[in-house]
Amino acid sequence: MKLLQPVYDSVLARNPNQPEFHQAVYEVLQTLEPVMEKHPEWVKAGIVERLVEPERQIMFRVPWVDDQGNVQVNRGFRVQFNSAIGPYKGGLRFHPSVNLSIIKFLGFEQIFKNSLTTLPIGGGKGGSDFDPKGKSDREIMAFCQSFMTELSKHIGADTDVPAGDIGVGGREIGFLYGQYKRLRNEFTGVLTGKGLGWGGSLARTEATGYGLCYFMDNALKAHGKSFEGKTVVISGSGNVAIYACEKATQLGAKVVALSDSNGYIYDPDGIDLAAVKEIKEVKRQRIKVYAETHKNATYTEGCRGIWTIKCDIALPCATQNEINEESAKILLANGCWAIGEGANMPSTNEAIALYLQNKIIFGPAKAANAGGVATSALEMCQNSMRYSWTFEEVDAKLKQIMKDIFDNATAAAEEYAGDKDNLVAGANIAGFLKVAKAMYAQGVAY
Ligand code: NDP
Repeated sequence: MKLLQPVYDSVLARNPNQPEFHQAVYEVLQTLEPVMEKHPEWVKAGIVERLVEPERQIMFRVPWVDDQGNVQVNRGFRVQFNSAIGPYKGGLRFHPSVNLSIIKFLGFEQIFKNSLTTLPIGGGKGGSDFDPKGKSDREIMAFCQSFMTELSKHIGADTDVPAGDIGVGGREIGFLYGQYKRLRNEFTGVLTGKGLGWGGSLARTEATGYGLCYFMDNALKAHGKSFEGKTVVISGSGNVAIYACEKATQLGAKVVALSDSNGYIYDPDGIDLAAVKEIKEVKRQRIKVYAETHKNATYTEGCRGIWTIKCDIALPCATQNEINEESAKILLANGCWAIGEGANMPSTNEAIALYLQNKIIFGPAKAANAGGVATSALEMCQNSMRYSWTFEEVDAKLKQIMKDIFDNATAAAEEYAGDKDNLVAGANIAGFLKVAKAMYAQGVAY
């Protein structure tokens, strides 16, 4: 990096102890150099300096009472990163690991991802260090109501529209939406991922996992390949992993592994997805239960071991930095030739460097998992129209959006990086161009 090194140095100096945020910024800035060389007016206008600083960061106390009558206190976050092309949009994550660094890396990535969807949405992200695991429904409700009591002051259908992420699914969105409505006395599309009878969109639940497979299908086809007959390993067993498994299977692949944060299951017969849905979505149990009822399946403690399973295509769909350099080396040594990121930043920068060196087919998260937020934007659209599309209509739009993202990222990679297969550069640049143009046009206080 030359032109943008001072910007990165300033990010490091001004945001100490935020390693995930540094990692996400570095990954983007190192690909933007050729763009800034072509646009000295953006350098002069401080576009990148402004882009790395959130427009607004909100941190708040979330007190609630547990089933034993004890007061618990969590920390809530909403980072409204960039609204140049539309209202802030991005999920809420409830997980004990959540801190400002994680929310900022997710919010920063969201700017580019949302721009790539071709829809008018800015970037934001939020969440809490609350751990939903093992909590009763009443405790979840109490937490969500307290969280929304503060969050409701900062969001709105034309301002900031949160959605789900790790630990926030349909149940949590329901409790959050109910509280927003109670406080504001308005029925608006302020959250996405809502239930189907009260403003939700068909295909939103499936969208991130399906979108990932649609994106990868385009990438595979560009190399004369497909999912048909391929062995696929998917990490995680949450919303993204389950629907990636469903679509990959529909496209002819055999998915042989899934995981959670404790360990992974391997089923050489192919994952029985109906059983997984029952375990995870209905009974909310751990993934190891699967091996108790499937005779050829095995369960192994420790989630990183999943990358030692031989496969053609790997789809990391759990969490950030789940594939480090060592795991990447093992995957490649075992013959894996395509990786599509369903989770956000699941590969370390060292792992990504290895993918690029080895010229495997690589779909980076910003592009490959954008189907979720794209369908959230379609939910906003339906809410504004007070109308709903059929599953097939939404799914067809999603498929087209994922193709457009692939085409735009490929074109940007070719134009600026001189390598149409470098979708890391392509996704960052294609996402950046639209936001930079908007920021430039909207000026800066003078
Ligand atoms: P869920 O909460 O539904 O599922 C998360 C899955 O990942 C669970 O199986 C969980 O296991 C596992 N996991 C979580 N944290 C860790 C960890 N630290 N180590 C190992 N495994 C872990 O979340 P989603 O499926 O919604 O999200 C998964 C990823 O996809 C995240 O990176 C998210 O940001 C990203 N994403 C999600 C979108 C969406 O629409 N939902 C959109 C775009 C990206 P356990 O139960 O043990 O915690």
